[in-house]
Amino acid sequence: MSPLASTFQAIFTKIISVALPTSCIVCETFQNKTLCSACVQGITYQGLFNYECCKQCNIALDSTELIHQHCRQCEIEPPNYDETHCLDCYTGALQTALHQLKYQKRLTFAHGLANTWNQFLGDQLQYTDASYLLPVPLSTQKLCSRGFNQSWELARRIQCGPHITKLPNALRRHHHRQHQASGNRDMRSRAIQGMFYIEEKYRPTIENQTIIVFDDVMTSGATLNEIAGVLKDNGASRVINWVLLRTPRPAQLRAQHV
Ligand SMILES: [Zn+2]
Ligand SMILES: [Zn+2]
Repeated sequence: MSPLASTFQAIFTKIISVALPTSCIVCETFQNKTLCSACVQGITYQGLFNYECCKQCNIALDSTELIHQHCRQCEIEPPNYDETHCLDCYTGALQTALHQLKYQKRLTFAHGLANTWNQFLGDQLQYTDASYLLPVPLSTQKLCSRGFNQSWELARRIQCGPHITKLPNALRRHHHRQHQASGNRDMRSRAIQGMFYIEEKYRPTIENQTIIVFDDVMTSGATLNEIAGVLKDNGASRVINWVLLRTPRPAQLRAQHV
């Protein structure tokens, strides 16, 4: 977006926020911000960023893993990606808002969720040393049935440094009939092998570059691991995941910051 267009968008957004009050995306309190102050406070104190997490996959560490700063899974079988940053747990305050976007097709929630990302992680991540940001794609068939790619609708609205170019069409996905949301880690890994590819004209672009991959949800990490493998096979030097919500391990013992 050009600086002029971005200035106009900022002015327009300001006018709209005053003229048309909205409701909080978490508690639905009527006001003029997308996240009310009580919910900001809730995420501030309960968000995933309050916990010591694995540097590579951002799962909250248990007490025996703290010393290594990596979870056991990443120690035993290091994933293809190098870092992961998540806003919050999937089981936290933002899950319903994400479902409103993804399953009820309420695109306004993309704006609210991206604002929340910017509020909590925008400053911290804007200096990330990367050149490109790629959303996790949907297959053409899935895109037609949903009407939009939720990862791109979030990614296009999040702030990142001006040195990072967002490329919505560089990474592509084949259609696969098998449903992705079930099965264990190995089953999911096998199911997505060969599912992603880089559009040919973008192959020289990503060579020797650090790439950010943006996804709405990270569960087993199998999808992001497969994508990072494809990016590195095509010459990317580092891959960093930015993820809205992270599924926690079951019955997890987490070590909170003090
Ligand atoms: Zn609220
Ligand atoms: Zn890990």
